[in-house]
Amino acid sequence: MALLEVEGVDVRFGGIHALRQADLAVERGTVTGLIGPNGAGKTTMFNVICGLQPLHRGRVVLDGRDLGNLRPHRRARLGIARTFQRLEIFGSLTVRENILAAAEVRRRWARDRSNPRAVTDAVLALVGLAPLAARRADTLPTGQARLVELGRALATRPALLLLDEPSSGLDEHESDELGDLLVRLAMAGMGILLVEHDMDLVMRVCSCISVLDFGAVLATGSPEQIRADDRVRAAYLGTEGAPEDGPVDGPVDRGDPPGTDAGTADGDTLRPGRAETADVLA
Ligand code: ATP
Repeated sequence: MALLEVEGVDVRFGGIHALRQADLAVERGTVTGLIGPNGAGKTTMFNVICGLQPLHRGRVVLDGRDLGNLRPHRRARLGIARTFQRLEIFGSLTVRENILAAAEVRRRWARDRSNPRAVTDAVLALVGLAPLAARRADTLPTGQARLVELGRALATRPALLLLDEPSSGLDEHESDELGDLLVRLAMAGMGILLVEHDMDLVMRVCSCISVLDFGAVLATGSPEQIRADDRVRAAYLGTEGAPEDGPVDGPVDRGDPPGTDAGTADGDTLRPGRAETADVLA
């Protein structure tokens, strides 16, 4: 049984069908990629998993337990942690205080003998922020601020870590180091779900990748399989070259406008981020 199983999830925002019978699995000890063009439904999927977004159909199962309508803080206690595409850190606190806050909250709910200060030191070392521990978080460049958010998530000792664009703002070297860290965390048993536009990073660290397009899962497979999948390339290019037979696992009608049930089709429009991604997939 996978650590996380998302089964047949539907989410609608009025006329926008943000997730369509979407399935997803994250195994323990692996990094799973969740990729797709802008507006494909990746953040909505994260919100569904961590309980911020109610679903209209389907279920989210963690470690064999159907999470039903559990609130986000209850899911956090079960071992789900996440970072946000738009950074969510405490700007007026130091780097250390941001991480310590999470370690202390976890200690309160877990009621174990963990020492929040020791946990904080370990996390600071793990994410490479020890030299910046005393800096106010809002004085950091975005890339390092993202590491603070990652550190704060790690301080809750999650079983499942959801990362939304963690490499955004990092330079190439920092991005490589982040990739190494994710692999190490997975090797330690964590299940990681990675939303990321840096395809080199995704292809390097993920053992499995799911591709969302128009809210449906277009393909799931190894990096090699995803790279070789014509439908995935067509989805990223968004051209007339898209195959006619639709997605592998979902009922996307490519004649529909992206993510909507009605309106004008824009099948020839390059959605932001598509062309660059297609280069890597090519
Ligand atoms: P990006 O890569 O740009 O972050 P994404 O793949 O994360 O995109 P989502 O943010 O999940 O995509 O959005 C999926 C669709 O749902 C989009 O059409 C988006 O405009 C729409 N959407 C998301 N949240 C809401 C909301 N709260 N209300 C209305 N529509 C929403």
